[in-house]
Parts: sequence; C-alpha cells; structure tokens
Amino acid sequence: MHTDCLILGGGASGLAACASLAQTGMHVTLVERLDRVGRKIMASGNGRCNLSNADMNPSYYAGAVPFVARVYEQTPPGEVLAFFSSLGLMTAQEEGRIYPRTMMAASVLDVLRAACDRANVTLLTGQEAVSLSPSRRGGWAAQLSGGEGVFSPAVLCAMGGSAAPHLGTDGAGTRLLETLGHSVTPLHPALVQLRCDHGALRSLKGVRAQAKLTLEIDGCAAAQETGELLFADYGVSGVCVFQLSGLAAQALARKRRVRLLVHLLPELDENAVPAWLDARISAQPTAGTQALLNGVFPRLLTLAILKQSGIAPDAQASRLSGASRAALAQAICAFPLPVTGTQGFKNAQVTRGGVPLDEVDPATMASRLFDGLYLAGEVLDVDGPCGGYNLHFAFASGLTAAKAMRAQLCP
Ligand SMILES: Cc1cc2nc3c(=O)[nH]c(=O)nc-3n(C[C@H](O)[C@H](O)[C@H](O)COP(=O)(O)OP(=O)(O)OC[C@H]3O[C@@H](n4cnc5c(N)ncnc54)[C@H](O)[C@@H]3O)c2cc1C
Repeated sequence: MHTDCLILGGGASGLAACASLAQTGMHVTLVERLDRVGRKIMASGNGRCNLSNADMNPSYYAGAVPFVARVYEQTPPGEVLAFFSSLGLMTAQEEGRIYPRTMMAASVLDVLRAACDRANVTLLTGQEAVSLSPSRRGGWAAQLSGGEGVFSPAVLCAMGGSAAPHLGTDGAGTRLLETLGHSVTPLHPALVQLRCDHGALRSLKGVRAQAKLTLEIDGCAAAQETGELLFADYGVSGVCVFQLSGLAAQALARKRRVRLLVHLLPELDENAVPAWLDARISAQPTAGTQALLNGVFPRLLTLAILKQSGIAPDAQASRLSGASRAALAQAICAFPLPVTGTQGFKNAQVTRGGVPLDEVDPATMASRLFDGLYLAGEVLDVDGPCGGYNLHFAFASGLTAAKAMRAQLCP
C-alpha cells in the first residue's frame, strides 16, 4: 500500500498530526497497534484529560528547555489551543490547568477522531509497525504485524514511550528507532509513586498529609515539592511525589542513595518548629506527647512521628529533655523515608529518556539522521511535570511535524 504520509502510533501526537495533515487533502495512513486510537488520552487526567496549561513555560521541561522552547516557537501554545478550538473543542481552566469544558477526556478524543475521519485518511487499528526501513525507491517502508507493507515518502514516529504498557506503550517505538540507527538514552519511569523502606509505612497506609518533600541524593538536597502526600504500604504517592519521581528514578539507576525528607508541618519554616513545640508544651503543661499533637496530625501520623523521635505516646510533654524535643522537631520537619525504587512503568504516567534531542531538529521534528523521518511526543527524551505539560508537548510536537511534512510533500 502506498500513502502520502505515514503516522505510526495513534496517541496524542500522532492523532494531532493526522488531524492537521488530513486538512491538506493528502492521503494519510495512521497505524495503531491497539484496537482503538487514543487509549491514553482517555485515561489521562483521571478521565478528564488535562491537555494543556495556562503557564506553558519551556523552563518546566528540565533537561530539554532549549529544545522545547524551539518547538513552542514553531507551534506556540496559543496555536495548539486554537487548533483544538478549530476542531470544535471548548476548554475550561482549573487553577491554570486546561481541560475540555465537559471535563471528559472523550471530548478531546472525539474531536480528534472526527477530524481524522475523512476520505483521505486510512486508520489501521489493531496493527503494529514491526519494522521500518528506508525504501530502495526512496521514502520509507513499514512492515505491519498483519503482514501488510506501507510505503510513504514521509513517516512520523509517534509511538510514545514505555509508561503505561497496558495503554499500548511498552517501548516498542524507541526499540524500532534504535534498530533503525537512532540512539536512545536510559529510560526511567516518571510521574510515578515511590517505594520507600520505613517500618512506619504499614500503619500509615491510606493516611494523607500536607507536606513539603525534599529529595535528597547522596545527602544533598536535589529538589523540593509541596502538596498532598498519600502514604501507602509500599511507600508514598501524590502529585508532589510524582514531580520528584523522575529524578529519584534516575539517581537510583546510578546507584545513588536517595531519601525523601518529609516536612509534615509545611506552614511553618523548619527553624520555627522548635519554638512552636515549646509554645505548645507551655500551653498544655500536663498533656502527654500524643495529646500534644492532637489536632495537628492524623492520629496514626502522630504515633509514627513519636516512634521516629523515640518518645512514648504517654510521656508527659513538659518533661521531655532538650534532646527529645529536638528529636521531635526533627521528625516533624524532616521525617526520613529512604527511597528504594518506583512503582515502575506499569504505574508511571510518562517516560524519562528517549531519542536524544540532538538527533532531532526542533523546528521541524525531522530526524537529523534520516531524510523523511519525523519524531514527536514521548518517544523523545522530553518529559514535563504534572499539569498538562506532557500532552501539550505531544500535541505541539505532532503539529510541528505535520507542518514540516506538509512542506516536504507540497513544497
Ligand atoms: C494514566 C495517565 C494519565 C495521564 N494524564 C495526563 C494528563 O492529564 N496531562 C498530561 O499532560 N499528560 C498526561 N499523561 C501523559 C500523556 O498521556 C503522554 O505523555 C502522551 O499521551 C504522550 O503522547 P504520545 O503521542 O507521545 O504517545 P501516546 O499517547 O502514548 O501514544 C502512542 C501510541 O502509539 C501506539 N504504538 C506504540 N507502538 C506502536 C507500534 N509499534 N505500532 C503501532 N502503534 C504503536 C500506542 O498503542 C499508543 O496508542 C498521562 C499518562 C497516563 C499513563
């Protein structure tokens, strides 16, 4: 089968590129290994699809800032939103996060699918691209799992990363590109829960707390996040944990010692906690230590804090020695959780790592190694924080690639 443009992967970046190219009248073929396109879009944002953010600053993409800045110059954030608006999608904002107005991911997928549902688009679902090679006649030849071969002068690899393999992305895209001759940096799960080794975790399962987390790597503070922390029997979860997880996963892979220091009273500066404790003890001189912390922390967390400080729950607070008071303040401000791993790609939202950015031109998303080959989305070594940054990059890079493919094919 011959086609003008071939897109491998029917996720966020592939669908955006397909919807855009379909408007040109060229024949576009999109290959998706699952039986339906856009499965990850449907699962995103807890089914609400946080597709973008009002503050789309490239500086949020650590390690990829100049590359993302160039992509967003080429396809500015406003253009991505205008593209969705032109497809009929109305959006709404919640604390800067941009969602479909319906708060249903299906609305995003519906408008993309409708734009791809044209006579000049062939959607091949349930078919996996198993190999890709430069064709002897020029252009590209993709071999599909069903046995069919597709030939095209331009191909977009939009096959995603390794996160959430049940949604179609098990690293097949990066493997295919590696076979072709592109390099791939080490891949790590990111935006994922962290596994920790601490005896208190089993009793804390299900407890939630506002906290400031410091990620410590080999004894040095590497990053900080504040937000709601959720304890689980394996470790910790929550957006603040997710934001630190890529860095933690990279450090663990390099055999570095990783800890989370949890400040459990983030409204107070660490230095202010000892005086706050003293004032609380003076106000309740006969209280036991557990009662002293009543109303501040959930009961199970109070017990864990006391155990961490080596203080009995029924010890009279006013009789605590200076050392015990210091230990208590320390447990409140820097509760230590040694990090042993992540909950893996199965639970991760994104992949850290991918095709290195010096192998791709950010103005066109064209491979610098092969003519007529374009890459977009998570197959690249780009990942952003929670808040719509990953979907937005997928859409923007897909649209950038579509513009360049159009220019290649209709100069
Ligand atoms: C549970 C969850 C929630 C998320 N929520 C958000 C959110 O709210 N906001 C946000 O910004 N980001 C979110 N993300 C991240 C975001 O969804 C991804 O970063 C984004 O979808 C990446 O787009 P992509 O086009 O690169 O890849 P994907 O959307 O992953 O699409 C890749 C597609 O390629 C297909 N494919 C793979 N290999 C082949 C092959 N060999 N042949 C044919 N097809 C193939 C896959 O089946 C898949 O459909 C979430 C991720 C998960 C897992």
